[in-house]
Amino acid sequence: DDPLDPHGRTDEIAVDGALRPPSLDEFKGQPRVAEQLGLVLAAAQHRNAVPDHVLLSGPPGLGKTTLAMIIAHELGAPLRISSGPAIQHAGDLAAILSGLTEGEVFFLDEIHRMSRPAEEMLYMAMEDFRVDVIVGKGPGATEIPLEIPPFVLVGATTRAGLLPGPLRDRFGFTGQLDYYDAADLVGIVQRSASLLDIAVDRASASVIAGRSRGTPRIANRLLRRVRDFALVKASGRIDPDVAAAALELYEVDALGLDRLDRSVLEALCVRFAGGPVGLGTLAMSVGEEAETVEEVAEPFLIRQGFLMRTPRGRVATQRAWQHLGLKVPASRAD
Ligand code: ADP
Repeated sequence: DDPLDPHGRTDEIAVDGALRPPSLDEFKGQPRVAEQLGLVLAAAQHRNAVPDHVLLSGPPGLGKTTLAMIIAHELGAPLRISSGPAIQHAGDLAAILSGLTEGEVFFLDEIHRMSRPAEEMLYMAMEDFRVDVIVGKGPGATEIPLEIPPFVLVGATTRAGLLPGPLRDRFGFTGQLDYYDAADLVGIVQRSASLLDIAVDRASASVIAGRSRGTPRIANRLLRRVRDFALVKASGRIDPDVAAAALELYEVDALGLDRLDRSVLEALCVRFAGGPVGLGTLAMSVGEEAETVEEVAEPFLIRQGFLMRTPRGRVATQRAWQHLGLKVPASRAD
């Protein structure tokens, strides 16, 4: 074991990379986004031009980075990767943009977390392939216009609504990724299993898929945990019972709720009597960042009908108490 990486994170990231589908053909699910994006790319190639900028939105782990890599691959173009939080000064962005080559794909993850000045520089770069760089300070400061080669911006965000209108408007195509359905996830688990040389029958793949919260990244992670469990406890053989037992051990319940999801629900139902409670208070009571609760746990809990966002705060539904095995309080039963 690597002493600097006791939990094998580096390995997980490397494995994650190996499991990324390299082309649109191998990208499973999201049929509408895949078809629309395929058309944008094919048309650009037809016109022998650089395609419009692409915005990808959706919860983490649904394939935004993968699609950015696919776009570069399909265009036969190099890929440059950065993220909003890494770009705090307009100068950071200018440095990246001026280093791009013609037709290069620039993937900007968490684009909603860029600083204001960088955002404004990006508007101009997207539209005119030009930026104004400020050189010097005080009265002697001058703006020097800098041409940049036409490039393709692929922006990713957890919610398109987080972006200011002017930025959103500069994307020619927006792909809204949604949670995957069970059949697509089964296909993804089987593809990953065969790439990792793990024997998984369809029934076991479907147990894993069913607990993956509609998310390929989670499906791949659970597959590896099931493989570990099977190696140690079932002489390497995976069947549906082994898969279910492994996932119980890792505290992933039958609907795919993990520890964070359940602690959010428990706090909401028990400590705050079902709400309404503000996001910040709820997040603090489970010891998490508000952003993690909002972007990782909530979308899934809302989709499953356990939680609602209201103007007054987060509110639990009857289903939440039922799923936790608790009695629905009289005040909430109707
Ligand atoms: P995001 O950028 O949205 O957080 P990623 O693109 O990093 O998500 O995807 C997470 C993992 O899930 C990737 O390693 C990839 O292997 C897998 N994945 C995502 N989408 C698909 C898909 N449509 N088919 C197969 N695997 C996928």
